[in-house]
Amino acid sequence: MDAKQTKECSYLALSTEETRRLGCLVGVHAQPGDLVTLRGDLGAGKTTFVQGMAEGLGVEELVTSPSFTLIHEHPGRVRLYHLDLYRLGPQELPDIGIDDVMGAQAVLAVEWSERLPPSLSGEALEVELAFVPGEDESRRIILRARGPRGRRLLEAVAEAGSAGVSPASGGEPVC
Ligand code: ADP
Ligand code: MG
Repeated sequence: MDAKQTKECSYLALSTEETRRLGCLVGVHAQPGDLVTLRGDLGAGKTTFVQGMAEGLGVEELVTSPSFTLIHEHPGRVRLYHLDLYRLGPQELPDIGIDDVMGAQAVLAVEWSERLPPSLSGEALEVELAFVPGEDESRRIILRARGPRGRRLLEAVAEAGSAGVSPASGGEPVC
């Protein structure tokens, strides 16, 4: 596969840990200003994937679902904002200052991103997680690139493949 042409990659994660690890690869390669949108039914693994991203971003604190608080901010090598729109209607979005978050030097991960207004979901790495019928511990995960930023991130993750990767600054592999 020529990674330069890649706009979509499909993965089969056989365990919670494998989903975390793919998220970690995304976190390792994410740059400030990147948007990662996540879709999938309840329990599909969106929060698990973001926990992996946090690990890759060098976040040390515990990352939990922001379902009730809407947004969590985690300091790391790059700051991570973790947003969950499950309980929000589109007209409520301005109340949580989403424009400020998008403008921050941070990575933004959004669960239930289908509720983002189209104006905010332009350039992104889209993550779609789905259950695999008859396989409780497996998830089909599709990564799709939107725009140059999304493509850069997807290509970096695809190239890293299943090899151990280190943070851009060097050091021990984290995923
Ligand atoms: P969501 O945020 O999409 O509602 P969570 O990540 O909070 O989902 O929960 C996913 C649940 O499914 C966790 O309890 C996790 O351990 C379990 N699980 C089982 N197999 C997998 C897998 N392959 N990937 C992700 N989660 C999995
Ligand atoms: Mg969740």
